[in-house]
Amino acid sequence: MEKFQQFILGYGPQVQLFLFAGLFFLSWNIENIAGVLFNYKKWKHAFINAQFIFTNIPGQLLLGMAFAKTIEWTSLHHFGFLNHLPLKHSSFFIFITTFVFLDLGEYIYHLIMHKVKRLWMFHVVHHSDTVVDVSTTLREHPGENIIRLSFTLLWVFLSGAVFWAILLRQIIQVFTTLFAHINYRLPERLDRIIGWIFITPNLHQVHHHYKQPYTDSNFGDVLSIWDRLFGTFKRMPLEDLIFGIDTHMQKEDNGNFKTLFKIPFNKNWQK
Ligand SMILES: [Zn+2]
Ligand SMILES: [Zn+2]
Repeated sequence: MEKFQQFILGYGPQVQLFLFAGLFFLSWNIENIAGVLFNYKKWKHAFINAQFIFTNIPGQLLLGMAFAKTIEWTSLHHFGFLNHLPLKHSSFFIFITTFVFLDLGEYIYHLIMHKVKRLWMFHVVHHSDTVVDVSTTLREHPGENIIRLSFTLLWVFLSGAVFWAILLRQIIQVFTTLFAHINYRLPERLDRIIGWIFITPNLHQVHHHYKQPYTDSNFGDVLSIWDRLFGTFKRMPLEDLIFGIDTHMQKEDNGNFKTLFKIPFNKNWQK
């Protein structure tokens, strides 16, 4: 276990990057073979979403440094409730508690992004995609990127989570975030089984339905248990599903990167 932790600490970010690239490529090809939506320009769509990679780099670097400093401080001062739990010497226990707590944190963050109008103005960029496929994963406004990482930083601070457990969680998150957005649907019975605990593509697609109450459902990141627990779990007949968000359904609102970038700063803003 010690060796594994050392490996994660040494190569975590690289593993994350290679895994993302590899799984993105795999998902892209699965979509080409078994996708649900075909009548759209896939490369053009991906090109628009991929531009957010570049705008999000400064925020990632900045918050990356803040993470390192925060974790250094919490471990030095034994700060955070994870440092005061029983079984704190078991790596397995440390990882599971970190994972579950940070996943709850993601749920709360996502719920807040939907409920606070000033924050929704950023998150709506992700929802404005009228086709949800693997490239939608990349469609995150740099403003939201900074807000999301700041929330994670807060959860890390409060919990006193250790670096290797956070990195391992992020590696798992690469799978789950791509899996949630893939243009593919699990067979219903399988979806019902996996969906008991995890967010499936089918469930996240409901979250991307263009109107309420479905947009405000299935907020979970990896686990679907929070939605079941807090009453935000929803299913709908997937053949009725329309991707996008009712306020930004027109091409002129969601069809190019420049327009998307400006959405949060639009004065005539309404949900
Ligand atoms: Zn959302
Ligand atoms: Zn999404």
